[in-house]
Amino acid sequence: MIKSKYQTIFFIFFIAFGFIFSPIFSEKKKNYKTNHSIKLEEIHRVEKDFEFVLTSRKFFPGELVCLTISSKSKKMKEKDFQIFWKGEEYPLYNLQGKWLSFLPISPEEKPGYILLEVKHGTWYTGKIKKKYEVEIHKSQFIVQERQSITLPQKYVSKTLPKDILEFIKECEKKKLIAFQSDSKIMLEDDFVFPLREKKISSPFYIQRNYNKKKGRPHGGVDFRGKTGNPIFAIQSGKVVLSRPMYFEGVFTVIDHGAKIFSFYMHQSETLVKEGDFVKKGSLIGRVGSTGMSTGPHLHLGMKVRGTLIDPLSAIALKLKALTI
Ligand SMILES: [Zn+2]
Repeated sequence: MIKSKYQTIFFIFFIAFGFIFSPIFSEKKKNYKTNHSIKLEEIHRVEKDFEFVLTSRKFFPGELVCLTISSKSKKMKEKDFQIFWKGEEYPLYNLQGKWLSFLPISPEEKPGYILLEVKHGTWYTGKIKKKYEVEIHKSQFIVQERQSITLPQKYVSKTLPKDILEFIKECEKKKLIAFQSDSKIMLEDDFVFPLREKKISSPFYIQRNYNKKKGRPHGGVDFRGKTGNPIFAIQSGKVVLSRPMYFEGVFTVIDHGAKIFSFYMHQSETLVKEGDFVKKGSLIGRVGSTGMSTGPHLHLGMKVRGTLIDPLSAIALKLKALTI
C-alpha cells in the first residue's frame, strides 16, 4: 500500500514535471526551415525589343528578386535600359555578360502590387517606358509567432552612462558610413551558407518581445552555433566594417557591390579588417555571444539598397543558372 502510494506520487510528479518543462526544452531546440532549395518562381515577359525574367524564392515581403533582361537588338546596350521598382531607379549590372538587377521586397510591404517599369531606347529612337504590376502575396516564410527574449538591463535601459551613450553613437556613425559604400558588383555565382550547420533558431522578421516589452521584428536570421565555430563569407566582396559594437557585438559588414551587403553579428572574434577583399566561402570570423545576445549563435543580416531582406532568399537564388 505504502509502496503504491509513493509510486502514485512519483508518477504525478513525473507527469507534472514533464508538462512544465517540456515546452522550455522543446522551445530551445526548435529549428525553423531554411526553405533554400525550394523551386524558384519566375515571371517571364517577352516584348518586341527585349525580354526579361524576374526570379525569386517567392514573391513575398522580405524576399530578394533578381531581374535579368536581354535586348533583341545588338544595337541596344545595357545603358539603353533603365529599371524602376516602386518608382525608384535600380541600376543594371553586367554579370558574366548578363544584365541583371536586384530588387528587394521590403518585409513591411503589404500584399498587393509593386510597379515595375522598364525604360528603353536610345537618343535616336527615343525612350519608351513599359509598366508591369508584380503581385506580392502574404509571406509564408515570415512565421506568425512572438519570441520572448530576456536581456541584461544595459541593453534595454534608456538611461545609460555618458561614455556608453557616446560609444553607441560612434557605432551608429560607423555603421551608417559602412552602408553608404557603393562598389561595382562582386558577386560570384550563388550565395552560400555562413556556417557548416544550417540550423535556424530564429527566422527573419519574427516578432519579438525584449524583457516583456514589444520590440522590433528580427532583422536577420539566427544560426545555431558553438563558440569558435568558423563563419564564412556568404559571397565575395569587400569588408567595409569589422569591429566591436555595443549591440551587434563583434560585427562585420561585407559590401558585395550593387548596394548588396551582408553582415555578421555577435562573433567571438573577427579574422578580417576593413578594406580586405574576401572570397565567398572564406573564413571571416568565429561564432560567439558578444553584444546583445543570449547565447552563442550567428546573426546573419542582408541589406539591398537600404532594404532589409531575408538572407535565405538570396542564398536560395541560383545565380549561377541565371547567368549562364
Ligand atoms: Zn538575430
